Amino acid sequence: MNVYWGDIHNHCGITYGFGSLENAIRRAKSQLDFAAFTGHAMWPDMYEKTPETEFVVNFHEKGFQKLKEHWEEVRKTVAEANSPEFVTFQGYEIHSREYGDHHLLSINDELPLVYRTSPAELVRDCGKNVIAIPHHIGYTPGYRGIDWSKYRGDISPVVEVFSKHGCSMSEDADYPYYHNMGPRDTRNLVDEGLRRGNRFGFVASTDHHAGFPGSYGDGLAAVVAEERTRESLWNAILARRTYAVTGDKILCEFKVNDSWMGSEITAKKRHICAKVETEGTLNKIILYKNLRPYYIVNGEIFQEANKEGCYKIRIEMGWGKSDLFRWNGSVQAENGEIIDYRTYFRGISVLAPSASESYDENEINNIETYSCLTDDGEFEWRCDTVGNKSTLHPSTSSVVIKVQGDLSTRLNFQINGKSYSATIEELLAYGYTNHMEYYHSHAFKIYKAIPESRYLFQIDINDCDPENDCDFYHLEVAQNNRQWAFVSPIYVERR
Ligand SMILES: [Zn+2]
Repeated sequence: MNVYWGDIHNHCGITYGFGSLENAIRRAKSQLDFAAFTGHAMWPDMYEKTPETEFVVNFHEKGFQKLKEHWEEVRKTVAEANSPEFVTFQGYEIHSREYGDHHLLSINDELPLVYRTSPAELVRDCGKNVIAIPHHIGYTPGYRGIDWSKYRGDISPVVEVFSKHGCSMSEDADYPYYHNMGPRDTRNLVDEGLRRGNRFGFVASTDHHAGFPGSYGDGLAAVVAEERTRESLWNAILARRTYAVTGDKILCEFKVNDSWMGSEITAKKRHICAKVETEGTLNKIILYKNLRPYYIVNGEIFQEANKEGCYKIRIEMGWGKSDLFRWNGSVQAENGEIIDYRTYFRGISVLAPSASESYDENEINNIETYSCLTDDGEFEWRCDTVGNKSTLHPSTSSVVIKVQGDLSTRLNFQINGKSYSATIEELLAYGYTNHMEYYHSHAFKIYKAIPESRYLFQIDINDCDPENDCDFYHLEVAQNNRQWAFVSPIYVERR
């Protein structure tokens, strides 16, 4: 089994988002294994048009019409982008005050665009291989949040628990809702859905509105599957072999009695196994049983750095002004090897059209997102960043490399003409920062190295105390950089 990364809910200019579909596909391919390109399609119980609602009603109606007129070519472009390296899904979105917003997801390239009043009717009438995923579920009931009394596991095996809107896990979860659609409501969160006995898995996606699927920090879906094909990924989603991450590609393996996350099993004795590989320093791992913390790994517990083996180093770049800035970087290792890397690129952030902001509708996020590990073992990347939205809303991009070697392994960095060289031993003690100009400048940071003794974790415990007819276990991982993973529950019946 492998972990594949995707974004199955995001928007571009095919409806009322921005940026071309072709560009969205290029951005997705540059850092993901799979993606859907969701068109806003309908809002059966939309508000009446009044002077107050006019802007909102108009941009929705215009967007829905645009998708309708171009549906054939949208579907065709998405179908043609599907390949062994990058899997695409079809889909579109229904807004609903009554049921909450859902996006359809399908592996059927003939997915019809039909208009109905509920997600269940859409799934019923769209043919085979279609599901409806509830998203931003935490909004006020009747204001496009979920209604758990109407939730149906048969059409919605997974629920989106994190996106640009914020985190929907629980009242106290990091990343509360701060979009203009309002705060999250206790009645409509993931923990309440589970408390009511519903069974579902977790995914995240960006809900980006400017054609940058996979934009860092806005949410990704992790799918545990045998291979990167539509059928394999689809079957894994139906089996809820999924988890949600906020951005960093945290690797999680979670099993009870050898059954994967998302499973339903029967057992009195439960052997619970989890393996986690973080991308940053660990804050905590919490194993929950029936929503109560059952076992905790505390990131503060000191682990000696390994003197040889693997190390992760993050390079973050951005800052500066609001205009696009091009980064050109490379790293090369002496007495060691760069064996893997991840990119965390993000472009210009847009969550919804706004009466007070305007964008270059077509060219937005037509930016650089290049990365490559060459045959000589050199890691190269190029990306474009814009200045941070505020001091608390970063727009930086980063890359993380995994280096195999020992304390004497030397890394030579070249970033926009600036050189830096340090051994792993030095990088375990100090990071490094540099600026492109003297003042208010674009800048980059090389983080302290994280040794594998501080990014690999394991839980291996037994639980022989059934509490309810069905107990459920789920896992949450928090890094100190506020990147999280939310791993789908395993449902264990007593008999
Ligand atoms: Zn959406």
